[in-house]
Order: sequence, then structure tokens, then C-alpha cells
Amino acid sequence: MKIYDLVVVGGGPAGIFAAIYAAKKNMSVAIIEKKNNIGKKILVAGSGKCNITHQGGINYFFNRYGDHGKFLKNALYNYKPENLIDFIESRGLKMQTLENGKIFPETMKSTDVLNLLINELKKLRVDIFTNSKVVSAEKESEIFKIKTDNQTFCGKNLLISTGGKSYPATGSEGDGYKLARMFGHGIEVPRPALTTVYVHDYPYADLSGISFRNVKIELYREDRKLKEHHGDVLLTHTNLSGPGIIDFSRYFMKGDTLYINFIGKELEVVSEELIEISAKNGKQNLKKFISGYNIPERFLKKLFKLLNIKEDTKLGEFSKSDRLLLINRLTRHEFIISRLGNFDEAMATAGGVSLKEVNQKTMESKLVQGLYFAGELLDIDGDTGGFNIQAACSMGVLAAKSLKLN
Ligand SMILES: Cc1cc2nc3c(=O)[nH]c(=O)nc-3n(C[C@H](O)[C@H](O)[C@H](O)COP(=O)(O)OP(=O)(O)OC[C@H]3O[C@@H](n4cnc5c(N)ncnc54)[C@H](O)[C@@H]3O)c2cc1C
Repeated sequence: MKIYDLVVVGGGPAGIFAAIYAAKKNMSVAIIEKKNNIGKKILVAGSGKCNITHQGGINYFFNRYGDHGKFLKNALYNYKPENLIDFIESRGLKMQTLENGKIFPETMKSTDVLNLLINELKKLRVDIFTNSKVVSAEKESEIFKIKTDNQTFCGKNLLISTGGKSYPATGSEGDGYKLARMFGHGIEVPRPALTTVYVHDYPYADLSGISFRNVKIELYREDRKLKEHHGDVLLTHTNLSGPGIIDFSRYFMKGDTLYINFIGKELEVVSEELIEISAKNGKQNLKKFISGYNIPERFLKKLFKLLNIKEDTKLGEFSKSDRLLLINRLTRHEFIISRLGNFDEAMATAGGVSLKEVNQKTMESKLVQGLYFAGELLDIDGDTGGFNIQAACSMGVLAAKSLKLN
């Protein structure tokens, strides 16, 4: 039976890049993939356009992975966004940067990215076994034995890059956690990340499409403030969305409270401004004055309706209790989380193989020599904007670079 220098389980960006860079070192490499083709998630990435990475210096990247960016330092320094871009462009697919810093292929087609990678794997003679779901793996006499239901593959090194649990239709169903456990690795509970958020008594179903730019979102658990984040918030017909919510969602749990400041001014400041202007010009229309805080008309109308405030109320007639209620909704709107979007909706998985037992300088297991991990399977998830694919590729390349042949 052939013994590969490296067996890669899972043909996502992490596994593909590890395979390419190991093969470039003249190693014999096999990718074992359970779906009928590799890279299914690349195809859906960026709505089929593939937001492959992001512009901005490498330091900008480290803050895009929640509290776990530090683990990625070696991987990202070793294989920077510009290295990934060069790799793709030098193989004939030009990239473009959009206004928000996201980098896509000029053709805006994920298929072009995937085809380029498949060609490269073929050129480097990487063996790709599709429709092959790995069900177990073990190390015996220095050789890894990787089993599907009807085949066994042997490798001097093994990389597990099976992705997380989100979008299971693309193949990532959490299988890698079981494989990692077989080697004694601990798993941080996997949770949906990069997802929208459902809240109790959501009142804005009819305001779907209204968005707020760069608002402050505070996260509270059991009356204690945990974190604060700034970003765009979108009201949908069922829940809260937009990059501000999606990027922050890795920290959310059912029952948490979010406080959103829709107008960028603190409650006390708005309160004082309102009292001052009411004293000067009590005849001024309340709604007109409040719209000056740059609030979408439909949202304001809805708030007046929800709070039973008449639209023709004059500042001088506005009661203190109503004033506090209205300002509260504008500057510290409370939303209690009933649930997060599930793994079918989430674009990433938080949690996964514990980082404590993986060497961040090599991606090798600290428990089993020759066993490597890369990609979303690990307890790392990035913001939207190309940070996840970049991280997966960088981890895959670092693992390949670190491979040793005994
Ligand atoms: C809708 C959507 C859009 C996204 N858009 C972007 C974007 O534009 N930019 C960005 O940076 N990130 C994006 N992401 C996230 C990004 O795609 C992932 O973080 C990235 O693909 C993770 O790469 P990976 O190699 O770790 O795992 P995956 O890409 O998940 O690949 C894992 C592979 O392992 C295979 N596998 C699993 N179990 C087994 C097994 N037992 N045996 C054999 N094979 C197995 C799977 O079939 C799969 O092919 C998006 C995600 C989603 C869901």
C-alpha cells in the first residue's frame, strides 16, 4: 500500500493550500474529500464571488479573529494576504479590491478560483480522492492509517482540515472534531458564528431593509457588560443582521441582551439637548427635531407608534416619561436574544479544536507528532471580509512548510 508523505483530510482552502505547498516540496500528497468535489465552500463564498482576502496591513488582520488573532500571527506572517494574491494572480486570475477593502477575483466568480486551484493540484500531481468520507484515523508504528468506509490510506503525516459545522451541505459537518478526539485533542464547544440574531418580540418586521451605519452595540450577560462593538446594523423581516451584528455574533448566547445606540449620541447628551431646545422653542414639532439625529423616517414613525407618541406632539408638550422612553429606544435600544441563526445560516463556526494543544508556529499537534490541523476546524473564526479564507490558506501553508519527513 502506498504511504504518502502527507494525507490531507478535507479539501477546503486549508487542505488545498497545504497540499499545494507540500507537493511543491516534492512530497507525495493525497487529499481525501467526502463530497463529489473539493472546495464546495469556496463556491458559495462571497455569494459565489469569493471574497478571498482583505486589504490593509497584516496588523489589521490580527484584530479580525475575536480573541484568537494571536494564534494566527505565525501563519499570517508566513503567508500574508499579498502572498495569496500573488499566488492567484501569477496563475492568470487578476484580483480587484472593492471600496470596502474586500478582495475578489476580477471575474467575480468563485468557480474561477476553484478551477485555478484544481489545475495547480493536478500540475503538482496531488492525488485527489472524492466521495471518500474519512471515519477514523490512528497512528501505528509511525504511520497514520486513515480509514473511509471501504478504503485505508497511509501517511507519514496527517493534516485534518475538515472545516467547522456551518453550511453542512458543503461537507463541513463537524467530522473533524471526532477525528481530533481520536488523537486525544480537546474540542471547544462549536457554535454558529457570522450569523444573524433573533430577538424576543422583534417589532421591526415591517421595516426590513433599513440599515444604520457604524452604530455602537453593547453585549450584556446577566446584567454585566461583556463587550462592545461598532458596525452597520440591518433590520430584516425576522431579525437583526448587517456586518456589525454578524461579526459580533461569535460572542452571543441565547438570553444575552444587546443595547444598540442608533444615533451615535449618548442618552444623557440627547436628553439635555431635548430639554434645552424645548425650553427655547416649545412650539417646535418633536418628530421634526428628532429626525435631525439622522434617523430613517420609517423607523422614527414606527417608534412613535410603538410608544404611543402622537406625530404632531410639540416639544413643549412632551412628557418626561415619554422623553425618556423615546431617547432610550434611540440610544440604548434593548434586544434580548432568543436564538442565533443555526449552522445552516451561519457563515462560520466558533469553537473547535482547542488551540492549547496545537503549536501555532507549525500547526502541529502538541500531542501527536506528524499530526497537523488547519482551517476553520480549529477554535478560530474571522470577521466577514475575506478573513476566513485567508486564515485557512495561511494555516495550510504553514503546516506544509513545517512538515518533516523522518
Ligand atoms: C455562505 C458562506 C460564505 C462565505 N463567504 C466567505 C468569503 O467570501 N470570504 C471568506 O474569507 N470566508 C467566507 N466564508 C467562510 C470560509 O468559506 C470558510 O471559513 C473556509 O472555507 C474554511 O476553510 P477550511 O478549509 O477550513 O474548511 P472548508 O472550506 O469547510 O472545507 C472542509 C472540507 O472538508 C471536507 N470534509 C469534512 N469532513 C470530511 C470527512 N470526514 N472526510 C473527508 N472530507 C471531509 C468537506 O467536505 C470540505 O470540503 C463563507 C462561508 C459560508 C458558509
